[in-house]
Amino acid sequence: MANESLKILPLGGLGEVGKNMMVLETDEDIVVIDAGVLFPEDDMPGIDIVVPNVEYLVENLDRVRAILITHGHEDHIGALPYVLEALPVPVYAPGMAMALIRNKLRERGRLRDADLITVESGQRFKFGNTLEAEWFDVCHSIPDAMGIALRTPLGMVVHTGDFRLDNDPTIGEPTDFASLAEIASDGVFLLMADSTYAENEGYSGSDREVAQTLHDVIGEAEGRVLVASFASQIARLQMVADAAVAHGRRLAIVGRSMINNLKISRDLGHLNIRDETLISARDALGLPDHRVIYMSTGAQGEPQSALARMAAGTHNDVDIRIGDTVIISATPIPGNETAVGNLINDLVEQGARVITHNTRNVHVHGHAAREELRTIHNLLQPQHFIPIHGEYRMLRAHADLAIEHGVHEDDAHLLVDGDVLRLTEDGGEVIDTVPAGHVFIHGHGVWDEHGNVIVERRLLARDGFVVVILGRDSRGRVVGRPKIVSSGFVHYAEAEVLFEDAVEELVGVLDRESGESLQWSEVEAAVKKTVSRFFTQRTRRRPMIIPVSFDV
Ligand SMILES: [Zn+2]
Repeated sequence: MANESLKILPLGGLGEVGKNMMVLETDEDIVVIDAGVLFPEDDMPGIDIVVPNVEYLVENLDRVRAILITHGHEDHIGALPYVLEALPVPVYAPGMAMALIRNKLRERGRLRDADLITVESGQRFKFGNTLEAEWFDVCHSIPDAMGIALRTPLGMVVHTGDFRLDNDPTIGEPTDFASLAEIASDGVFLLMADSTYAENEGYSGSDREVAQTLHDVIGEAEGRVLVASFASQIARLQMVADAAVAHGRRLAIVGRSMINNLKISRDLGHLNIRDETLISARDALGLPDHRVIYMSTGAQGEPQSALARMAAGTHNDVDIRIGDTVIISATPIPGNETAVGNLINDLVEQGARVITHNTRNVHVHGHAAREELRTIHNLLQPQHFIPIHGEYRMLRAHADLAIEHGVHEDDAHLLVDGDVLRLTEDGGEVIDTVPAGHVFIHGHGVWDEHGNVIVERRLLARDGFVVVILGRDSRGRVVGRPKIVSSGFVHYAEAEVLFEDAVEELVGVLDRESGESLQWSEVEAAVKKTVSRFFTQRTRRRPMIIPVSFDV
């Protein structure tokens, strides 16, 4: 035992919100917990999604036994199609997450190759000789959310996944204290717990209160009602359906992802909605305004969502009218505040009354606030603690809370993506770092953050580009006057004089340098250098310079 060690390597989700991925490693075996995406930010031009860097896992593929999934949110499963290409290992996931994973893999034609195992809470699975995992129910904003307890040579490791405590959720199980107490009965060596709301005092609140508020707000509305939430917020869907029935309205679900999730969760038995409550968005147009509720995605201000298109007047079936009540049943994920603000402005401009969590209690967080975290720390009393899922300040707040609850300062490990923490019976230290940066996906393209594509895109977004067109004769000499065109660089009115001056400068340089014929690479270098220097001096900008040649 004395020589045993356990390595903990976060590859995503520590120091950021999104793309969660945690690696747990013994000398013989490796398991990976979650494989999520991050949604791109403003400095990632054109990028669809960001996924974790799995180089380290690919290098150690012979020891990677499985990917273990906690729940079906995109920031926990969204990267699987990409990760499985590099790491063809089995995936273990609870029911709802597995149904969503299947859809994802089917869409990419990868379902047949995948080895997928659906887990139930309380089931145990062995991974190699050194690891055994058991999933336990937690309450979160999607059904079938679970945490994972891992028996390791050093003792019990508990990973909470995303969770909160709500003893009476409208859908799904409350966080399972009995199983947690059982799991903790021989002591917990290491706890890794959700830190998303570790800065918020108090409790995340109860679903039942939200259900009551939605019921009231929908009851007060005289015209149409439109509720926006997350596609995976199945409990919210049930609440809105119940309110629809109570107030004599029909429910129209708008948007592909929400319709898909409605089907999945009805198949899994998570929803209790009768067929006659539902109506298609198109058929709902024939109903009087006070007889219909629409529900859609778009609560984060996503520009392609159904709600954004309705607000912009570009949705095929539904527009926003004076007298509509729009309920935003979500809070903005950090980073989305501006987009949500713009969306609300658009909705109000179209004549809607907009209700948000700021005005009425129409949303509870899916993540534990401080009182709930205290409960978990008191129950599990871990020896070591790692705050997970959150930006650095959230992790710090959670580490401090753990120390208040008895974890020794040296055993509260504040890690960020890429750190390699080695734990032994004597303690723990960060012994190394591994690549854990962003990997960008756009269409079929996969790029590293240091690769040329992203660097060039940022440059293009900032200063635009300039193409310098040069005619060359059969011996490679530049002939005639170069021509310059640009995009995103200067105003048309300035361009003519500026480009003429640049050409003048360039001709001078080329005349001096190309008495003899030059290699194209030499011409290219001379053009880039000359034009770049000229434009920097004249405009204080650095456009990308692209020399092209044609034969004359
Ligand atoms: Zn989640």
